[in-house]
Amino acid sequence: MAHVSLYRRFRPDSFDKMVRQEHVVRVLKNQIASGSVGHAYLFTGPRGTGKTTVARIFARAVNCEHPVDGSPCGTCPSCVALANGSLDITEIDAASNNGVGEMRDLREKVQYPPVSGKYKVYIIDEVHMLTDSAFNALLKTLEEPPAHAIFILATTEPQKLPATILSRCMRLDFKLIPEEDLEQHLMRVLDEIGKPYEREAVAAIARAGAGSDRDMLSIAEMCIAYSEKLTYEGVTAVLGAADFHETCALVSCLLRADGSGALEKTELILSEGKAVGVLVRNLLDLLNQVLVAKTCVSAERLLALPKELFSEVKGLADGAEYKAILRATEILAKTESELRYTTSPRIVLETAILRVSCPADDYDIEALLVRMNALERELNELKTSGIRIEEKRTETVPTAPSVPKAAQSAPKESADESDYPFPEEEPIFEEAYFSDVIAPPKPLPKAEPPQKEPVKPAEKAPEPFAAPESSAAAPSASEPAPAAANPVAAPKDAQKAFGQFMRTLRKTSRSGVLFTMCSDLEAEFEGETLVLISDSETIVRSLKREEHVKIMTEVFSGIGITSFEVRGRAQMPKSGGIEELKNNFKDYPIEFK
Ligand SMILES: [Zn+2]
Repeated sequence: MAHVSLYRRFRPDSFDKMVRQEHVVRVLKNQIASGSVGHAYLFTGPRGTGKTTVARIFARAVNCEHPVDGSPCGTCPSCVALANGSLDITEIDAASNNGVGEMRDLREKVQYPPVSGKYKVYIIDEVHMLTDSAFNALLKTLEEPPAHAIFILATTEPQKLPATILSRCMRLDFKLIPEEDLEQHLMRVLDEIGKPYEREAVAAIARAGAGSDRDMLSIAEMCIAYSEKLTYEGVTAVLGAADFHETCALVSCLLRADGSGALEKTELILSEGKAVGVLVRNLLDLLNQVLVAKTCVSAERLLALPKELFSEVKGLADGAEYKAILRATEILAKTESELRYTTSPRIVLETAILRVSCPADDYDIEALLVRMNALERELNELKTSGIRIEEKRTETVPTAPSVPKAAQSAPKESADESDYPFPEEEPIFEEAYFSDVIAPPKPLPKAEPPQKEPVKPAEKAPEPFAAPESSAAAPSASEPAPAAANPVAAPKDAQKAFGQFMRTLRKTSRSGVLFTMCSDLEAEFEGETLVLISDSETIVRSLKREEHVKIMTEVFSGIGITSFEVRGRAQMPKSGGIEELKNNFKDYPIEFK
């Protein structure tokens, strides 16, 4: 006997055997009972939810001589004729017959009366695939159908149909089938074919069916062939799901913000040959289960997992914060859709894994910036050795101001690279937009031109920034502007000035985030301009935002400084690199060429 797939074998032949969709079934039954059958129907809904099945039952029911409660009786001559294939029911797959020719053909044939029953029924599947001209030809038929014709258009994408077609059809929406109903259906099927099963295996298959009866039965068919008894383990093996315990270990790392652990576990799972997409799917499923276990009293019943697996999930849930679970889910769900457009899925996944396992108590974007800064700095420290040696080599001219071109371009690239783990944050700040924002007026008269002197920036030093050159240059730079209506004498020492700024900011500022971001800055005078330097481009961009500039301008003018500027270290001319490098990396052999 030829093999018949489960789905076809257990395809309902009466309305009462349908899995759900009772809202559709009820409308159709009532129309049959009252004899008020329409001429055109549109069945829409996700695949595998029963559109074609209902269409076939309906086609036989309208022709049945004695319908039983709206369903075909199966015994009358008409039912028997239709069961053996009849010209009165025509199924057209629009995916492969989408041309105007087929629709014209249909228009001719529909004029002939039915052979055995009352109606000729045309079921056009995937109707959204028709070409424009085919739609026009179909429209003509729908406009003036013969009394004996019924059209049932089925589609998963109703939005692709022309409004002229939509408006002529009675639309019935099919819904995804709840897991519980899928489980019930699968258990009936398994009982009928005499296959022993674990309850958890059934739940897992129903979950994988994702609301589609057909998908679920196809999956079940694979699992049934896998082993004597349908087991949970067999199902996960067939589905290619990552090992549950390994996935749990990974999720545990994610929720505990253990970045390196999470990457290790990811590596482990992927090295076993799991596809990135499957892993992301598994992670999302598990996170969802963890969330259910966290929030629902009846989680154990809802999840229907084997006992020891449930206790593992419950353990994860108990140890995790609600927000952390949600955040992880959000990021990974986004990753899942990104995977469709990337050629390097692994990088996308690992980036997402890192993002999820970033420490996070606060979800405020500004606060996240601060944490990102910490990561960037660590990354930069790792990179610095190589980069600075490169710089030093190109930096042959000793006077800093003449160097910037070479010195700027190289490190700038590296600074951009260092942003890479957080690509999503980038578009928030429009570089072009903020580049001009910070340009406070410089009302102080220039007493002398100190900027002619080569200004040596303070290199990052282990002790609170000592910048002897600049602080030496500063005093001569600005003798307090005599007549300026500014009673506050501007501090001449950059460190002092900055310290004063921070104290005032702390006292007056409404923004704790601004204070935190500023606390990592280094300061030095360039002429009368107090230059604030940060290692992080992200912080620089954020500080250049209008609201921050406004507060900073206020605070600075309060302490007598009327001109300041925020810069990334990448934009600073470099000097004294080698000595500092040696100091900072005593344990590393560094070669200078
Ligand atoms: Zn009948």
